[in-house]
Amino acid sequence: MSIIFRVRGLATATRLLNPFKVAVIGTGPGGFYTAHHLLNKSSPDKQIHLDFFEKLPTPFGLSRYGVAPDHPEVKNCEEFMTNIMADFKDSDRHRVRFIGNVEIGKDIKLKELEENYNAIVLAYGCTSADNKLNVRGTDSPGIISARQFVNWYNGHPDCYNTENPYKPPPLDKIEDVTIIGNGNVALDVARMLLADPKQHWHATDISVEAEELLEKSTIKNVNIVARRGILESAFSNKEIRELFELKDAKFEPLEEGLLERIATKKLGRVDKRRVSLLEKYNKPISAEEKSRRKWTLRYLLSPVEFITRDGGIKETRFVKNEPVDDPLLPGRVKPTDKFVELKNELVILSIGYQGTSIEGFEEIGIWFDDNKLHNRGGRVLSQISKGETKENLTYKKGWYTSGWIKNGPKGVIAVTMMDSFDTAQNILEDLTNGDYIKVEEGKDIIDSDVFKSLSDVIYWDDWKKLDNYEIKEGDKLGKTRYKVCNKNEMIDICK
Ligand code: FAD
Ligand code: NAP
Repeated sequence: MSIIFRVRGLATATRLLNPFKVAVIGTGPGGFYTAHHLLNKSSPDKQIHLDFFEKLPTPFGLSRYGVAPDHPEVKNCEEFMTNIMADFKDSDRHRVRFIGNVEIGKDIKLKELEENYNAIVLAYGCTSADNKLNVRGTDSPGIISARQFVNWYNGHPDCYNTENPYKPPPLDKIEDVTIIGNGNVALDVARMLLADPKQHWHATDISVEAEELLEKSTIKNVNIVARRGILESAFSNKEIRELFELKDAKFEPLEEGLLERIATKKLGRVDKRRVSLLEKYNKPISAEEKSRRKWTLRYLLSPVEFITRDGGIKETRFVKNEPVDDPLLPGRVKPTDKFVELKNELVILSIGYQGTSIEGFEEIGIWFDDNKLHNRGGRVLSQISKGETKENLTYKKGWYTSGWIKNGPKGVIAVTMMDSFDTAQNILEDLTNGDYIKVEEGKDIIDSDVFKSLSDVIYWDDWKKLDNYEIKEGDKLGKTRYKVCNKNEMIDICK
């Protein structure tokens, strides 16, 4: 028996000397939930050295820069990352580092990662681009993407750079806004435009610049427009209820006949609830409510032209759609020969984010297209060469993916979490089977010439300085956090 123990002890010691090295690219929910599972579920004889790489100086991805400021409870997920750093930064078994302000693909090449890590998890999200509309006038001034608007009110450093800061729409000069798309992002944007800045937004971590402009807002009407019908609405019931219940804005009734046409008897629970919510709030506006801001939901309309005059957008022309009458094509619509124009001085396109590739995928043979990384259960697939068929697919050994870039730009944080656990479980399985990238022992990327040439790398302790600063300054202003938005300023505070 003692021999077995001694052999086991030796195996453990060897493992401890040669930790399993993992790089996680991106510190949004996809990245930190994968790391959480890996570190907590690895077998006791495995030691993991995990490095988080983040292109921004700050962690948390869309939890910090996407989730609406009035949803602080959603941001509680950030505790997972904070706990990982507290529990494993220098623990006996695992070691975890946050390496911020380092963009993978640019500052550090993918090939360099392959030389240093046994496993690499691509969890870099889908926030660099958005879907486009192929409609006349799309590039006119006054048509903006929801992604950029969200970045602006959430204080994303891309909008607040010194050289070329984002110019927000002139909310203090316009009255009518059209939002195209009716997903939860569209509803966040609508809430931002409709709710009272002092009562609703001031106490949150909204960017101070956004709050100041919203205080001067002259907006009166917001139309949220979808190309399909009520049952195909992309928003969730909780989010639409929140908008209905805003004290500062009034819902204008739906187009007549839309609700009445729905056969409620055949609906599932979620759809029934959706219809009953719409019925509840679909009431005429009373005389005393007439002066308030108004918003409504419009359905079965596809934009066909943005009409500009005097250098600005004045109207959007939509073709009216009708449902395709075919039980095999549920939810499909087709255009009619009828058109409608909506008056607007600002159009916000909220038609989905888009995944982009990282420089070097082709070179090392990673298969990316169609908004996402091709993968099976988070194991990244190799690019198929000309002449090869999809039956010949192989895995790109040691490369994994989690979060939105794994599945495309959809899914709430709870879904991202469960799915990231799946990726992590497959990494652990491959680790047990010896199926990982073999790297030179004792090598550490931060000793490499490339790494040493990087300036202003932000480590966890640096970020904590910024974190504490933001909370302290926020406290003085009666806000949960005062977000520092300019990257240079962030780095100065971190250092
Ligand atoms: P992200 O959160 O985008 O994280 C990716 C990280 O990778 C970022 O930090 C990014 O800076 C970093 N990165 C990118 N490129 C590189 C690179 N080359 N090198 C290093 N790092 C890189 N879900 C909810 O449950 N509730 C909500 O209220 C909610 N609100 C949302 C609001 C908006 C506007 C959006 C767009 C989404 C919202 N979601 C919400 C969905 C939720 O944000 C996602 O499920 C989740 O953030 C996806 O996580 P991720 O890690 O894949 O991507
Ligand atoms: P989304 O839910 O996919 O909604 C996209 C919307 O754009 C849909 O209405 C879609 O209509 C429309 N659209 C797409 N292409 C179009 C086109 N060419 N022309 C006209 N309309 C078009 O995306 P999202 O709103 O960006 O949200 C992304 C994810 O984040 C979702 O999973 C969402 O739930 C999550 N999120 C959650 C919260 C929250 O929980 N509070 C907040 C924000 C975001 P069709 O359906 O007809 O394609």
